[in-house]
Amino acid sequence: MPRALYPGSFDPITYGHIDIARRARRLFDELIVGVFANPNKQTLFSLEERKELVEQALREEGLTDVKVIGYDGLLIECAKELRVEAIIRGLRVNSDFDYEFQIALTNRDLDSRVETVFLMTSREYVFLSSSMVKEIKRFGGDVSRFVPRVVEEALERKLQETIGRERR
Ligand code: ADP
Repeated sequence: MPRALYPGSFDPITYGHIDIARRARRLFDELIVGVFANPNKQTLFSLEERKELVEQALREEGLTDVKVIGYDGLLIECAKELRVEAIIRGLRVNSDFDYEFQIALTNRDLDSRVETVFLMTSREYVFLSSSMVKEIKRFGGDVSRFVPRVVEEALERKLQETIGRERR
């Protein structure tokens, strides 16, 4: 029963992430999406908010049998705790590769039983990232092509909160 963990920041989840999750689900008997606290990244949404959005978005997209967890710690420890055989990562452009290559090799040094499996992005999501979505939204653009409705609404609310705080 091969199981896989798809980890990430998901700040917020986009159709690019969902596409990878859907394709990974077909390859493994069980897929767990791990929403990670990343000390190197300042996130717009809290860990709890990101996890909730992933749950809602996956449900909205029909991926109802994918489990979602929040994790504040080392990826390889999480993989060990969950007893997964594989870690899934998505690859978009060249620049993803160097970073992912380093992490995958380090994780293999830490535990050689866990394989990292890379899925190539789909053509329509090559340039899609959470940062791009946040930037477009900040400048009032339409992000409905890039994220599910629940995410769009959450971005709207978050933006209002931020503007409200800045005015105070
Ligand atoms: P992290 O901070 O761990 O990189 P992200 O949420 O940015 O978290 O990304 C999680 C994973 O999803 C990464 O493997 C990333 O390459 C992949 N990913 C993000 N956006 C896309 C996309 N548009 N197409 C394919 N993979 C993607």
